[in-house]
Amino acid sequence: MSSPLTCNYHTHTRRCKHATGEDADYVKLAIEAGIKVLGFSDHTPYPIESDFTSGMRMGVEETKNYFDSITALKEKYARKIKIYCGVEAEYFPEHFDRLLNLLKDYPCDYMILANHFVPDEENGTYVGAPFKDPEILDLYLKNTLAGIESGKFAYLAHPDLPNYVGLDANKRLPDLYRTICEACKEANLPVEANFLGWIDHRNYPTEKFFKIAAGVGNDVIIGLDAHNPHFLNDTIMQKQFVRWLEKQGCHIIDHLEGLE
Ligand SMILES: [Zn+2]
Ligand SMILES: [Zn+2]
Repeated sequence: MSSPLTCNYHTHTRRCKHATGEDADYVKLAIEAGIKVLGFSDHTPYPIESDFTSGMRMGVEETKNYFDSITALKEKYARKIKIYCGVEAEYFPEHFDRLLNLLKDYPCDYMILANHFVPDEENGTYVGAPFKDPEILDLYLKNTLAGIESGKFAYLAHPDLPNYVGLDANKRLPDLYRTICEACKEANLPVEANFLGWIDHRNYPTEKFFKIAAGVGNDVIIGLDAHNPHFLNDTIMQKQFVRWLEKQGCHIIDHLEGLE
């Protein structure tokens, strides 16, 4: 059975320390599933001033190996599939210029915006774990809006990641979702429905977010967030996910405009 997706722009490699498989395995299973465009977007290396070492992204010293490996696959499989090489990146206001400065020396095709930590990874909270402090939610929103407005990103990944469980979550979360949807609409930036979160029964993606996105009129793109090559050819679950998303009434797009 072939995949209901034409394109997937959210693919990891084991350099991020929590994905499995060889780079080529992701390509082979994407081809087997009939996917036409495969974008790698591993967790970006993030140059910061301190000596903090991240446990969930490649080190700066692995940047060259990452781009070299995916560039070689681009060429090797050019007749069977279109491959892009990008990164999944947080908008950390303090460090973002350093990131751009690092990536300018590499053939980075696109960046997807994905804020996981507030205020940053070294000093902050992972917002996908339950938290009750509304200030963290406010800061997630602030940094996400700044990322949206930066104009540097191709789409916003798992916009509904924050696992806020304060007593007023029923009010604060929909308010957050609406503000994000309106900002993305204004910036013409698609929002992602995250397949990993859905098959893993995480707190995201939420029906509420995508009902709001449907009302605001956002473009919604499915990102497999593949941390294992078999995400690419899990076509049965992919189809169920498309049906789930269609039920929310969203305008689903299947590819990104503007990539070379
Ligand atoms: Zn990851
Ligand atoms: Zn990801």
